[in-house]
Amino acid sequence: MPGFEFFGELERKEVNDVLNTGVLMRYGFDGMRNNHWKAKELELELQNQFQVKHAQLLSSGTAAVSMSLAIAGVGAGDEVIMPCFTFVASFEAIMMLGAIPVLVDIDDTLTLDIDEVKKAITLKTKAIMPVHMCGSMANLQALKSICDKHHLVLVEDACQAIGGTYQGKALGSYGDVGSFSFDFVKTITCGEGGAIITNNSKYAQYADHYSDHGHDHLGNDRGAEMHPFLGYNFRISELNAAVGLAQVKRLQEFISIQKKHYTILRDALSQIPEIIFRTVPEGGEENYSFLNFYLPDLETTRNVSKAFKDAGIDGCFHYYDNNWHYVRKWNHLKDLKSLYPISNEVKKGLKYLQTKTFEKSDFYIGRNLSCLIKLSCKEKEVLERANKMVEIIKSSV
Ligand SMILES: *Cc1c(COP(=O)(O)O)cnc(C)c1O
Repeated sequence: MPGFEFFGELERKEVNDVLNTGVLMRYGFDGMRNNHWKAKELELELQNQFQVKHAQLLSSGTAAVSMSLAIAGVGAGDEVIMPCFTFVASFEAIMMLGAIPVLVDIDDTLTLDIDEVKKAITLKTKAIMPVHMCGSMANLQALKSICDKHHLVLVEDACQAIGGTYQGKALGSYGDVGSFSFDFVKTITCGEGGAIITNNSKYAQYADHYSDHGHDHLGNDRGAEMHPFLGYNFRISELNAAVGLAQVKRLQEFISIQKKHYTILRDALSQIPEIIFRTVPEGGEENYSFLNFYLPDLETTRNVSKAFKDAGIDGCFHYYDNNWHYVRKWNHLKDLKSLYPISNEVKKGLKYLQTKTFEKSDFYIGRNLSCLIKLSCKEKEVLERANKMVEIIKSSV
């Protein structure tokens, strides 16, 4: 998945445009910038590639996820339904707004289980936030109809699945708003950065203002701009945007390499009858950043995971034992270890985590291995890696 494997001339050229003028900020300084507007250009590129009306860049994916909820009006005491298998940023983004993350099980898609989502809806629910983990998506059509029925917002965290599609639409563009991350290990990287995309013009305007202290961006005197509402600084710098611009132009190239390498690996592993591949919802196409599969039980999976490491096969994750991506190890959340006081509403809202179990998810995550698809290997190396994996799995099942 990582774009960092392909950092080169194109990235350097875009960055040098910015270094040559010294204007590292995305707004203002029109006279000095020699007509370079990397952040704006990157936003246009995202709009074109993903066929959406609006894109707004941000300083990180976490900021993007949080802002996607903020512009939809999610705040104090509101409940946001999210999966218990995701990166920690998902609940951080919700809690930044004083809202309550409601964690629910995942199914064999490794994303939100539709029945569990239905059961989790209360009068306080404001949004459903599927996270398209490891390159593939949630059942968006089912989630959309739940949202329509209950008047909820559908906010997609597409940070790990940029370039994937569902029913012909780019992931991130199916719901009301979608977010991407460009951190260093994502498919497209600019060091640190993120973006939201939306077709909702009101949300787009809110995003434009909110990410820059609430500035209304009217006229050409920044000091005289008004603040129609409160905002923060979640701006991206021109330097980061410049790298992102070079990378995004290569997204389709990255994905086609990923698809090729993914297919080699999948074909090899298909010989093993005990392996079941992750379910991709009908109408969906992954971005091929990971190959995900299930082994027969937890013990076998632990053994295979260890044997992979011992054999030097890196980048295959067993998330069951992982601190960052699965609820089992999120003790800082369960124990509400916060540097500052948390509101009573959120404390009360998170009490369920003391007792709630996630058996369905344990069943899938316990048996899942998620293998990163590398871009820079030769096909021969991918095949060698695949054969080694097959050998290890065959001797373990
Ligand atoms: C990476 C990631 C984020 C956050 O992105 P950052 O740019 O690292 O802040 C959010 N959600 C998911 C699912 C991610 O993988």
